[in-house]
Amino acid sequence: MSISDAKAALPSRFSFDDRFVREMPGDPADYNLPRQVHGALYSRVSPTPVSAPKLLAYSPEVAADLGLTGDELRSDDVVSVLAGNRIFDGMKPYSACYGGHQFGHWAGQLGDGRAITLGEMVTPGGATLEVQLKGAGPTPYSRRADGRAVLRSSVREFLCSEAMHHLGVPTTRALALVLTGDEVLRDMLYDGNAEMEPGAIVTRISPSFVRFGSFELPASRNEHALVKKLADHVIAAHYSHLPNAAAPTRDTYRAFLVEVAERTARMVAAWMRVGFVHGVMNTDNMSILGLTIDYGPYGWLEGFDPAWTPNTTDASGRRYRFGAQPRIAAWNVASLVDAFSSLLDDGAADAVMDAYAEAWSVAELDMYARKLGIRDLRLEGEGENKSPDYHLLEGLFEVFKCAEIDMTLFYRGLANVPTDSSLPRAEHEARSLAAVRDAFYAPSLLETSVGDSVYTWLSAWAVRAKEAYPSDAERIATMNAANPKYVLRNWLCQNAIDAAAKGNPAEVELLLEVMRRPYEERPGLERFAEKRPEWARHRVGCSMLSCSS
Ligand code: AMP
Ligand code: MG
Repeated sequence: MSISDAKAALPSRFSFDDRFVREMPGDPADYNLPRQVHGALYSRVSPTPVSAPKLLAYSPEVAADLGLTGDELRSDDVVSVLAGNRIFDGMKPYSACYGGHQFGHWAGQLGDGRAITLGEMVTPGGATLEVQLKGAGPTPYSRRADGRAVLRSSVREFLCSEAMHHLGVPTTRALALVLTGDEVLRDMLYDGNAEMEPGAIVTRISPSFVRFGSFELPASRNEHALVKKLADHVIAAHYSHLPNAAAPTRDTYRAFLVEVAERTARMVAAWMRVGFVHGVMNTDNMSILGLTIDYGPYGWLEGFDPAWTPNTTDASGRRYRFGAQPRIAAWNVASLVDAFSSLLDDGAADAVMDAYAEAWSVAELDMYARKLGIRDLRLEGEGENKSPDYHLLEGLFEVFKCAEIDMTLFYRGLANVPTDSSLPRAEHEARSLAAVRDAFYAPSLLETSVGDSVYTWLSAWAVRAKEAYPSDAERIATMNAANPKYVLRNWLCQNAIDAAAKGNPAEVELLLEVMRRPYEERPGLERFAEKRPEWARHRVGCSMLSCSS
């Protein structure tokens, strides 16, 4: 069966727009074989049908945003569309053409090698959202790969998109996870041991999947008119609040890049707040809307370690380690600015980079103010002149170095450290250390000099926190809204993948449910807020991940 024989009808309250396809230049060739595509921003391509689609999980919130009921989503018609076996009337599927800097080096044309946008869905609420399948078969950008995705990486993308949303981190969303019924060959560790794995498709949703690399590729080919076309489209469709958005001037492009830089800084600050490490911050994986995009070998800090990267491909250089993310995002913004050089006045590039730096400082200060429960936190000064709060924050990083400490549990526990200065010292010390004890991989260390160092810091923090928030209840509420109880711990995701691979999607659904309210105490769900068990310390998929997906 070819896909064109199999159009399905969606209830009439839905419709699809094809604004990107209509307004942007497309690839005139229509054969689906790998090639270099010049002078175009996409190639029309249809998904390749799969043998036995099965809906494994879906996000009720995203379905509701699209105006789909659960029954509609589970229907054979919709599932066959989500598997790439049919399309709805009005869809004009395509894969986008883009390039990117990978690990700091220009990589040329990349493009959607396994992502196919089905169409832009106009929701009953009036929003226009791109509906994209990831893993739906080869495209002109598949290079030597198969255009498919395996179950493990699809579960990870599905769950993390939704977890990030509920954690308040800007992100693309995931509607559904479908098993294809076909197997895919992968050499997970690139060590010559390839195995067949179950194939899957994630349906991703975003107002746009345009990336920094979408501009960089035409710029690298001196196709500056194409850069302008794409910029004008993105500004009109997604940055319409900017001055002269309908007919951009040089000032509009500058204001646009300033806002992209600011959104990117705020996105990375949100990552740092929850301990998320993207793992592949290549410029082709940076959204022009400032959303987290392309969930691959990402990971979550368990033991606090700014040098940690989950990505095995990044293990030697650690370019994308946790602590480097704000700086790498700035590097990526600079690459985007380069791509806009033909549209900018002198001085605009510096203004954009300054805007990034300023937005990052503001977002970083806000993040620590909320995480530490110190609303008037002041982090200014350098060298000898650092503010007392700056020293307090540095002291926290020293605490994190003195033992293996789970970042999430430590901040969550911090809220419960007593700030009452009238408590007898011994009682204050015992209650303070008890509040953060769970965060320590070796809690008995707290009975040694490590306990003394930790308590010294906690008591200094308690004085400052009390000064900032006379009301404990208000401070605790602020801190608990910034410090999640539940994050998508690497080993939790792996457990859900193991169960799904055996045909049981219940763990995926349960984890999705846990991550739906990550800042609340959830009686009965405590096992999802535990620090990493020993078995997960060196297990592939938990402590390290490859790009193979
Ligand atoms: P990533 O770093 O995972 O975002 O991927 C980098 C590039 O490789 C993108 O152009 C992807 O579309 C492409 N790619 C990754 N996996 C596959 C695959 N299985 N088939 C085709 N293209 C792929
Ligand atoms: Mg990518």
